[in-house]
Amino acid sequence: MTKPITVALAGNPNSGKTTLFNALTGARQHVGNYPGVTVEKKEGLHVTPAGESINIVDLPGTYSLTAYSVEEVVARDYLVQERPDVVVNIVDASNLERNLYLTTQFLELGVPMVVALNMMDVAEDRGITIQASRLAELLGVPVVPIVARSNKGTAELMATALTQAGKDWNPLHISYGEDLDGVLFSMEKHIAEQGFLARLYPPRWLAVKYLENDSQIRERGAKESAAISADLDRWVQEATAHLQKTMETYPEAIIADHRYGYIKSLLRQEVITRKYDADRLYASDRIDKVLTNRFLGPLIMLAVLLGLYKFTFTYSELPVAWLEGFFGWLREVVGGLLPDGYLKSMLVSGIIDGVGGVLGFVPLIMFMFFGIAILEDSGYLARVAFMMDRIFRMFGLHGSSVMAYIVSGGIAGGCAVPGVMATRTLRSERERLATLLTVSFMNCGAKLPVLALLTGVFFANNQAQIMFLLTLLAWGVALLVAKLYRVTILRGESTPFVMELPPYRLPTFRGLLIHTWERTWQYVKKAGTVILAISILLWAMMTFPGLPASEQERIDALRQEVLTSYPAEVVQEATDEAVAAAELSPEAEELLANLDALDRQEAEKTLEYSAAGRAGRALEQVSWLAGFDWRTNIALVGGFAAKEVVVSTLGTAYSLGEVDPEATQSLAQTLAEDPNWNPVMAFALIVFVMFYAPCFVTVVCIARESGSWKWGFFAMGFNTVFAFGFAVVVYQIGMALGLGG
Ligand code: GDP
Ligand code: MG
Repeated sequence: MTKPITVALAGNPNSGKTTLFNALTGARQHVGNYPGVTVEKKEGLHVTPAGESINIVDLPGTYSLTAYSVEEVVARDYLVQERPDVVVNIVDASNLERNLYLTTQFLELGVPMVVALNMMDVAEDRGITIQASRLAELLGVPVVPIVARSNKGTAELMATALTQAGKDWNPLHISYGEDLDGVLFSMEKHIAEQGFLARLYPPRWLAVKYLENDSQIRERGAKESAAISADLDRWVQEATAHLQKTMETYPEAIIADHRYGYIKSLLRQEVITRKYDADRLYASDRIDKVLTNRFLGPLIMLAVLLGLYKFTFTYSELPVAWLEGFFGWLREVVGGLLPDGYLKSMLVSGIIDGVGGVLGFVPLIMFMFFGIAILEDSGYLARVAFMMDRIFRMFGLHGSSVMAYIVSGGIAGGCAVPGVMATRTLRSERERLATLLTVSFMNCGAKLPVLALLTGVFFANNQAQIMFLLTLLAWGVALLVAKLYRVTILRGESTPFVMELPPYRLPTFRGLLIHTWERTWQYVKKAGTVILAISILLWAMMTFPGLPASEQERIDALRQEVLTSYPAEVVQEATDEAVAAAELSPEAEELLANLDALDRQEAEKTLEYSAAGRAGRALEQVSWLAGFDWRTNIALVGGFAAKEVVVSTLGTAYSLGEVDPEATQSLAQTLAEDPNWNPVMAFALIVFVMFYAPCFVTVVCIARESGSWKWGFFAMGFNTVFAFGFAVVVYQIGMALGLGG
């Protein structure tokens, strides 16, 4: 004989558990105690119409699964230790919102489950209609309406429960917002890698409990491994201190907020209709009436996003100019102090130009982050995601994909690395892959300097509008490519939208500053480390192996020739540092110009012969189709390491080729004056930078998150080919139309 199936009944106090239990088991009951506590344990046998005996356990009624009461501890210990085949979660339909709080916790634990929607008679009397099938779709578990007191629907409930019995545990991942998701991710990873309490709890659930400061779990964890428990505590302390500083609150509060947000967003999706709108409208709901209104909502959203761009570009203009001036001054000072040679070249062309080019954008990025922090801390960003969901479904994606896109830079200024990680909240594997393969199309913070530089030079008159257009372009391409994936390599059903709508909060100024500073600092740190290293490496690649001897001799001979073709006093005058430029004779001026031309030729040749120059030249065979010359190619190759490097490399490449290495001219001016550059080529380059291979770190993340290097390589290959095709089309059409100027 096989072991009978065990069904656990669980729900809030007064949801009708005992009534259902009695209806199911009749007289076949046994009452005892849970071991060691005075909590009553009732068990009974239910016999199905087919004659099968099912063991029913009535769990203590609880509002939550956090260790606030003995009942809660008993209920969850029973679930994780005894592992019943299926849980019947009984909820009071007339009080759905509050009852679903416990439901989400079962979902997070991942037990196989059926929701029994009890007291349907009461709900009906109050004019509440509930779409059980819609609710089932959103929760991802079956929902059966019943009236326990008159035994209505209970047979169907048990039949449904049996279909779920023994299924694998499948924990739901609720996002707890930017501040906690990062920590949770690290903790979850650590727990999973160490197999910490793996026989009992899903890793993320355990991490959430640590954050919630759950005393029982912490004790159990410390007993299992003091070391791992201490590791987790450190993360918790860090997150707690951080929340205290930015939001003046605790992780428990944020977690509860997000669970309620999750339920709210779920219920607003055609789940409940009320005949009498006697329900109180909370402040958040009242604001949402306007901000997420079907017609007004999207308009307000567009206005807000456009406003964010205006704000960023208008206010950052002056500080960006200051910083540019500062770096110009710095290179002049350093250039003047050091003798000519590799050290000076490395400091000026490699480090100051490379890193300075990237740091010059810090004010712009700071303003952008400040704007985003306002949207995020106020809770508006979640509404943006909510509204975008309708559009997303058309492209085979999911509401949760929106968050991943936004984090990756959907409003500009994000990063694809957390974006790829944000896809973890997606439950369907295909939707998740389609999302994580396309998040890198967003305009992340690293692409911003490239876009800002090029739009600033070539589209200066309507920079904000062009940047806004580029954001729309990023979204359009990401969605279309996702759709392409969803009808080809990732074909399959779509799953319903459930997302957390946290209540609106007035952001604190302190919190905004901290959030802005954190992200800006990350950017600066990257400039100081990765980009510094890459700048030096690329400078070396652009400088060595140097000119071949024959070429050097040729140029030296030319220089000698020029010098000897002038009378000695003119040479003397031209090389005399003491004579001011204005007093030079025409002959001396001419001599200097000739010498400058030779210097430039030498620098150009050196770059051409360098390792990077050769690679760039080789690529020119193809890249000319999009209008990219070899210098641009060098920059694009460097950009695979980190997209900011495109700017720093252009800075280095153009400074090496410059007439006067001590000139204070900025890269923007250089490009504006260069005849090889024009608006069409600049736009083709923008398109290429936006869509080509994700940076190296993102590729690694894609491989790790998708569980296969195949997808990492796929993203690199597909994106580069796609971006190049796009850039060629832009360039060829633009030039044919004569827009190149
Ligand atoms: P428990 O605390 O979850 O065990 O809830 P009980 O089974 O004790 O039920 C609480 C109250 O709700 C009792 O008065 C029940 O008679 C009543 N009740 C249970 N199910 C229903 C139902 O489907 N409809 C109505 N109208 N009342 C119900
Ligand atoms: Mg009871």
